[in-house]
Amino acid sequence: MNNPKRIGIAGAGLLGRLAAWTLARQGHEVTVLDPALSSDPQFDGRGPAGFTAAGMLSPLAELDAAEPDVAHRGWYSIERWEQIVQELRQTTHRQPHFDRHGSLMVAHGSDLGAAQRVLSRIASGAKDWPAQPVTLAPEELRETEPALHGSQGPLHAWLLPGEGAICTVGTMKALCEAVPQVQWEWGHRVSAVHAGWMATTNGGQHTQERHFDWVIDVRGVGARPNSPVRGVRGEVIWLHAPDVRLTRPIRLLHPRHRVYIVPRPGDVILVGASEIESEDRSPVSLRTAVELMAAAHSIVPGLAEARILRMDTNLRPALPDNRPEIHTEPGLLRINGLYRHGWLLAPSLLDEALSHTDLVH
Ligand SMILES: Cc1cc2nc3c(=O)[nH]c(=O)nc-3n(C[C@H](O)[C@H](O)[C@H](O)COP(=O)(O)OP(=O)(O)OC[C@H]3O[C@@H](n4cnc5c(N)ncnc54)[C@H](O)[C@@H]3O)c2cc1C
Repeated sequence: MNNPKRIGIAGAGLLGRLAAWTLARQGHEVTVLDPALSSDPQFDGRGPAGFTAAGMLSPLAELDAAEPDVAHRGWYSIERWEQIVQELRQTTHRQPHFDRHGSLMVAHGSDLGAAQRVLSRIASGAKDWPAQPVTLAPEELRETEPALHGSQGPLHAWLLPGEGAICTVGTMKALCEAVPQVQWEWGHRVSAVHAGWMATTNGGQHTQERHFDWVIDVRGVGARPNSPVRGVRGEVIWLHAPDVRLTRPIRLLHPRHRVYIVPRPGDVILVGASEIESEDRSPVSLRTAVELMAAAHSIVPGLAEARILRMDTNLRPALPDNRPEIHTEPGLLRINGLYRHGWLLAPSLLDEALSHTDLVH
């Protein structure tokens, strides 16, 4: 880059790490500030939501809860994640997991009506897309994912082709490690963000003004009062299940819960997630734990002997209309409101935001 810029990024979550990686590779001088004490996940409900996320990349399934344009960004992001993960595998010692061989939606026989309503929403949002849900007969489901068995009889199942999954923890760590020239300032809270400068505090002691050519505000729920963002509580459960073989994310269509089961490397299976209009960051409730695990067990009986490794909570950053927002003005870029599909949206939103600046070519 002929004209490298000094860039200050507020927030080392999903977007912050992806932005730092992207911009440092363009030759810019990048500094990232975050109140966390290190780049590693603490699983205490306080760090980036990006670590807690299951990492489902589901443009089709998200049409149940999002507009087609949000889902449309997802297809772009899946392509980008594939390239990004490949580069991370070449430049770090980490091998973040990524796949895009589809996901499954399943429903118990008694929930077919509710499932069909979801499918018709997906079909109408995706009517012009090549990828459409494909109904699987019971024997096809058995071949595709033999570990699935409905507790109330045969499951209804649909394959969502092209959907994917990404290991959130591995990718977030690799994004930090892949660009050693980035200056990561842990333990620094950014209290105000403006074009070209930000105010930071270090352990609540000293307030400092920091000046940059560009400031990028990606503090998620921490961006208030600069943004009307709110937090939406989500809870997930990590299981260790060496006897259960699943090869793709599974979503259970259920009238009351949105439950998904996501296999991760190391025989780990994530079961998620609650969605509660609350900024409570306290540990997972008994009700959520029981409901998620009972729902998961009702379609994967082999989970009975799984061991509970961890329960994790975090807040999804959501704007009043639950849609993502990009704001650009000279010297300042803000991205927020990634809500329940941040991994699905992040590369698309970041690439679009940067295209309004002189920071990439
Ligand atoms: C339970 C759960 C499951 C999810 N599952 C999925 C999924 O399967 N697929 C998907 O696509 N998305 C999923 N998401 C959503 C996704 O995790 C979020 O949309 C995404 O992490 C938002 O990215 P972000 O960078 O905006 O915020 P975050 O990842 O939350 O990062 C914000 C960063 O800002 C920092 N920060 C906060 N305040 C300040 C401050 N004052 N100064 C400096 N830094 C600050 C924080 O410490 C943090 O590091 C899930 C979320 C949850 C909670």
